[in-house]
Amino acid sequence: MGLLTGKIALITGASKGIGRSIATTYAAQGAAVAFTYLSSEAKALELQAELEAAGVKAKAYRSDAANMAEAEALLTAVLADFGGLDIIVNNAGITKDGLLMRMSEEQWDTVVNTNLKSCFNMTKASLKHLMKQKSGSIVNITSIVGIKGNAGQANYAASKAGIIGFTKSVALELGSRGIRCNAVAPGFIETEMTAVLDEKIKDEWTKGIPLKRGGDPVEVANAVVFLGSDLSSYVTGQVLQVDGGLLT
Ligand code: NAP
Repeated sequence: MGLLTGKIALITGASKGIGRSIATTYAAQGAAVAFTYLSSEAKALELQAELEAAGVKAKAYRSDAANMAEAEALLTAVLADFGGLDIIVNNAGITKDGLLMRMSEEQWDTVVNTNLKSCFNMTKASLKHLMKQKSGSIVNITSIVGIKGNAGQANYAASKAGIIGFTKSVALELGSRGIRCNAVAPGFIETEMTAVLDEKIKDEWTKGIPLKRGGDPVEVANAVVFLGSDLSSYVTGQVLQVDGGLLT
């Protein structure tokens, strides 16, 4: 028996990086896995095939997390295909970095809509189902940048800080309905998102991390397993930092 046996999970943005690790780790713990992608179709279909080959019920959906109508259509499709939904992981996220002096309105809107509005979209779309079911776990992927701020990432930091406020509010509103909502705040994790960073910046980050290394996506996925599973049945409204001690 896995920690998620019998659970149906929906993970946004799982074609690569942390989302992909969450999908494979969830599957290894017994969950059926619905997941989304936006542009990386080949990678998403590859993941679906990999999970199915391992005997897991899995399906990839192309769905723009920033779009409310697409979130509603996704929820309908997942309920029809999987027959239920227990865990939602709002993971889809992007960066469009730049100093505020040079940040365009488009850079702001795209990042805030993809990272923050996406959490509203998916949570709102699934609310009726979860309330009727009287159970559910929502896990939102924020960032330590949302706690601390970061020069050159005003849009990203604001979106991630917003996720924390949203998470706590949902926990307060829906706790009495048996629905939990928590956030995971990764630090510096080795994915395509961080691969674009300058080596010098990466070295600086690493020096400041008590564990003296970047994190592996699986190390974030393990925290998301805990919060999605019944092991965390009395945990809601929390932000779990997975950052090698960086913000300590
Ligand atoms: P990544 O490797 O760039 O992967 C991002 C994923 O999000 C991809 O699967 C991408 O799908 C999907 N995505 C992007 N925009 C989307 C949209 N509009 N609709 C649906 N899916 C969308 O990034 P990552 O490093 O794994 O990051 C995953 C999450 O962790 C993000 O929320 C990020 O902010 C957070 N995080 C990462 C770090 C880190 O160090 N890596 C640290 C803190 C927090 P397509 O490729 O198909 O478009």
